[in-house]
Amino acid sequence: MNTSYTVCGICEQACGLKVSTEQNQVIKIEPDKDNAFSWRDYCIKGAKSHLALTHPKRITSPMKRIGDRYVETSYEEAIADISARFGAITAEYGANALGSYTGNPNGFNFGSALFQTMLLDAIGTENRFWVGSIDQNALHVVSENLYGNPWVGLQTDIDYCDYFLLIGTNPQVSGMCWISYSPDGWKRVLARQKAGAEVVVVDPRTTECAAKANQHITPLPESDWALLLAMIKIIFDNGWDKTSKPEKLDGLGAIKALAQKADLNDLSLRCDISLDTINRIAEQFAKAPRAMAVGRTGVSLGRNGVLGLWLVQVLNLITNRVETEGGIYYCSGVLDFLDAGDTLFPKSEAISRLRGTKNIAGSHSLAELPDEITTPGIGQIRALIMNSGNPVVSGPDGDKLDAALAQLDCLVVIDQFQRESHRHADWLIPGDHFLERNDINPLLQSLSPAPRAQFTRAAVNLPDGMRYEWEFLRDLAMAMNAPFIMGKKWLNPIVKASIKLAKLTGNKHHGFSPLWLSRPLIKSGGMFKWKDIKNAEHGLGELSTRPNFGTLFNKLTTANGKVNLAPTAFINTLAERLTQSPPDTSEYPLQLIGLRKMKMMNSWSVETSMEGMKERELTGGSIEINRLDGERFSVNDGQEVTVSSATNHLVAKVTLSDSVRPGVAVMQHGWGYRTFNPKTGKGTYNGGVNRNILVSNKDVDPLSRVPRLNGTQVKIEATSIA
Ligand code: SF4
Repeated sequence: MNTSYTVCGICEQACGLKVSTEQNQVIKIEPDKDNAFSWRDYCIKGAKSHLALTHPKRITSPMKRIGDRYVETSYEEAIADISARFGAITAEYGANALGSYTGNPNGFNFGSALFQTMLLDAIGTENRFWVGSIDQNALHVVSENLYGNPWVGLQTDIDYCDYFLLIGTNPQVSGMCWISYSPDGWKRVLARQKAGAEVVVVDPRTTECAAKANQHITPLPESDWALLLAMIKIIFDNGWDKTSKPEKLDGLGAIKALAQKADLNDLSLRCDISLDTINRIAEQFAKAPRAMAVGRTGVSLGRNGVLGLWLVQVLNLITNRVETEGGIYYCSGVLDFLDAGDTLFPKSEAISRLRGTKNIAGSHSLAELPDEITTPGIGQIRALIMNSGNPVVSGPDGDKLDAALAQLDCLVVIDQFQRESHRHADWLIPGDHFLERNDINPLLQSLSPAPRAQFTRAAVNLPDGMRYEWEFLRDLAMAMNAPFIMGKKWLNPIVKASIKLAKLTGNKHHGFSPLWLSRPLIKSGGMFKWKDIKNAEHGLGELSTRPNFGTLFNKLTTANGKVNLAPTAFINTLAERLTQSPPDTSEYPLQLIGLRKMKMMNSWSVETSMEGMKERELTGGSIEINRLDGERFSVNDGQEVTVSSATNHLVAKVTLSDSVRPGVAVMQHGWGYRTFNPKTGKGTYNGGVNRNILVSNKDVDPLSRVPRLNGTQVKIEATSIA
């Protein structure tokens, strides 16, 4: 029996895993209890992740579409055909005729993400789309505007905090990680609560965390900005604001002026929280010795995501909660995003062709992809490379995207399985599994609360003849004769020679591999020695390392070196919101929000995490509403209803509860799609319904272009007698 240590590559918690194998087969996966940056546990997706390795539907050879089936071919044939087709399309229509879509798992596969970016850079396309545009773009917009770098994610100093204001987050399930990482975050919050700290959860639903909070505030979805602005106004009006770094804050006057003009009664009505409550939490937050306000996806997924996350930062900044003990702070990790500036993520000024919006963190919004494929003109996307994504399910208005994908001249998919979004693929290219990789992900590991580094070890070999995703992407770039490294085509012969060497030695990393770049990158940061990283099987770094407070203010990369507290676009959008009437609810009286459970799949791991799941746990086909709304719409518990939005409709079963506030409907995300057996063309339906088809791809946050995955207005009508 062999044992290897790695981290789960399915979500950013990156739980440490201990993997036992025998004869290249995984026998057991357990949490790695010695991984200092892990919560020493795992969820169903990690626990069952090895089932994907030998799953009968797994793609392990390139597969070419012949009619409605796929046949296995060689990499040589795949690369020759794809390079010829991509080459012909870009030669005739320009580089932007080739688009890309990158899904969430690609962010946890450093080699694939890096080499895909290098391939796209080499080809020169600006038509890049990614999954961040349906959840985290609001944070990137806020970080770029306030701090000068879209990738700044501030960490939480949990163990020293006296007052937690948690908005739109359910850390018992999410682990309190989102572009930042807090191992055992919720347990540590509860430990602080036991020691006397106050925990305030702001959420329209009684989440697992809300049930344990000292206070639970239930605003309407998409109205956090109104609650936060009211708190900020109260703090200014009472002179409770304080900051130890006034010279580092630009725009404080503009924020004060905005708050001064705001009407507390109006704000209270907009979020549907009483003024007494807002006054109370504003005073408590401002006067707590140490406090933090944290906003997550519950805030970012709606049409006011940027406003909400921005005002969370403003609240923290005007009460001295940034770069202070018990507050939020920037951590220089194994790579330092602020030091690296534009070297790591070159700034792109790319504007989308049809809606004319500037890219965010290097990519355009998924909401814009269907029209970019179907609308003729210069720059129309005619070929697409989709890497580890299932956007028809995870994004808005999947039916529209599905129809658009069918129109492409060439769709190349890199994935472990053929999923709903891959129905029209011309080529299926095998996706590697994290249990097969020797890897280090310096980007992800730099979003940690303290410096850390871990070189993860492959537990099993790749299937015979299969290449890593990064190999395929590199080899495709070579076949296209594209300048793969820093735009320098003359380096291609060196890459090709290294590939030959790797074939001779049998060591894939003797060929030009991501390790050729990650190793010098890490060395240049100077945080850890490469030798030490390689020797530390559970990873390097101590979670208890105290933050170096002040780092953020010292390294700001804004034009004037100050926090830009009041970006003009934010101020203007907020002013607009203040003059708008509340949404008309006469036709669609409920607002749809999402939830996440530990024991559920997402739209990328359904094939394995559903294995063995009990019927009662398959809750993806239900819609939860308040009992009062049940009476209002004359529906009973368990009754089948049609749920309609202005975009689409579906059928679900009603769950009546007291856990969700009136006016709100809750449906889980990520259910209801097919996985295909490419050899037979037959699909298996994975249960539940895909509620994202109700979400429009036109109704988006104007600042982040994130669609309203939280907040879409819906109605329900009985379709059966309960
Ligand atoms: S998917 Fe589950 S096991 Fe994997 S990193 Fe995320 S929480 Fe951990």
